[in-house]
Amino acid sequence: MVSTPVLPLEAASPAHICPFDQACSYLEAAAKELRLAQGIVEILSHPRKVVTVSIPVKLDNGEVRVFAGHRVQHSDILGPYKGGTRYHPAVTLREVSALAMLMTWKCALLGIPYGGGKGGIAIDPKRYSVGELERITRRYTSELIKDIGPSVDIPAPDMGTSAREMAWMMDTYSVNVGHAVPGVVTGKPLSIGGSLGREMATGRGTMIIVREALADQGRSLVGVQVVIQGFGNVGMAAAELLHQAGAKIIAVSTGAGGVFAKEGLDIPALKAYAAANRRSVVGYPQAEPISNADLLTLPCDVLIPAALENQITEENVNQIQAQMVAEAANGPITLEANLSLEARGVTVLPDILANAGGVVVSYLEWVQGLSYLFWDEERVNREMEHLMVQAYRQVTQQSKLRQIPLRLAAYTLGVGRVAQALSDRGLYP
Ligand code: GLU
Repeated sequence: MVSTPVLPLEAASPAHICPFDQACSYLEAAAKELRLAQGIVEILSHPRKVVTVSIPVKLDNGEVRVFAGHRVQHSDILGPYKGGTRYHPAVTLREVSALAMLMTWKCALLGIPYGGGKGGIAIDPKRYSVGELERITRRYTSELIKDIGPSVDIPAPDMGTSAREMAWMMDTYSVNVGHAVPGVVTGKPLSIGGSLGREMATGRGTMIIVREALADQGRSLVGVQVVIQGFGNVGMAAAELLHQAGAKIIAVSTGAGGVFAKEGLDIPALKAYAAANRRSVVGYPQAEPISNADLLTLPCDVLIPAALENQITEENVNQIQAQMVAEAANGPITLEANLSLEARGVTVLPDILANAGGVVVSYLEWVQGLSYLFWDEERVNREMEHLMVQAYRQVTQQSKLRQIPLRLAAYTLGVGRVAQALSDRGLYP
């Protein structure tokens, strides 16, 4: 049993599923399977450092508004803290803490020399001008100046942020320290040391894991029916690559709603439609409209939740008809729903594996930058694929060896590696 986190966490409303408690439950399950010592679990269930800052910003109308920004550094046992920066109205310290913990296991599972961290600001970026977003991002970075750095903590994009925000973060950090420091963030624009292949990386990683999992069942991607919730950076890239590989994407959605076509959507045409319609797929003429709730329960081979947490819950899990669910989002399935899917024999490809392509290419970007040598896209994709396939094989092997589902197998590998390093390093003082 783990003690209550020593965190200035806001109270979780009883109706709300607490993401940090869920993350701790997965840690405890892995610790139990691995028979880890109590002290190790105790340490790993607390983030090492939690930073919350006020971000005062003058809006375009002259009004001053203060936003809350967080950066949670869960573990740096294996290397610098690493993880994205989320801009979303639902961001809370609990969520950021949970996501930081997931990053620790994800990096360890993929064998990349990082710990785990995560940042976030509770705003809806769509409601602010580019200038306002730039001022918010720069002040946030400036407040974190002592806590981040290429060998300390390396932010990256997450939901609501992109290469643009990373460029502002890199510039703010660099100006403050007095010289250019491209390695302080990953997911940067190519012009300042970004990597080819980074933008599509998370979606590409998901495609690779789905392809491997299908291959293990003696199937290929050709003709497989896929449903994708979310058509942002991750969902769109996964849709494009799966479509190119011959899969039939029968439905996709954005926050405002989705579209469905039994014979398969023309993904390049849908992408062009979304680009012209403020990133929404609603109203796309060559398909039928479908709600986000109905989309999740469509009969299909592969369901890819690529949006927010807690989309598949006790409420709708019995209606899920997919035979395989690949978590391109972080934590889209609740604890109870996950157990129910596993009990029904649905193949659940867990987030720390299925969406690790992003952080893997972040790592490759950081390595290229630190070695002042940049690779072509083919090499980036090849190196990423190697790490993804290797991790997939380790997870399936672990699952067979211990007779446990893929999620627990992935967690035992990630948690186990961090626990081993922690026990080798020892406890200071
Ligand atoms: N935000 C992404 C994730 O959740 C990428 C993190 C990174 O590249 O550091 O994995």
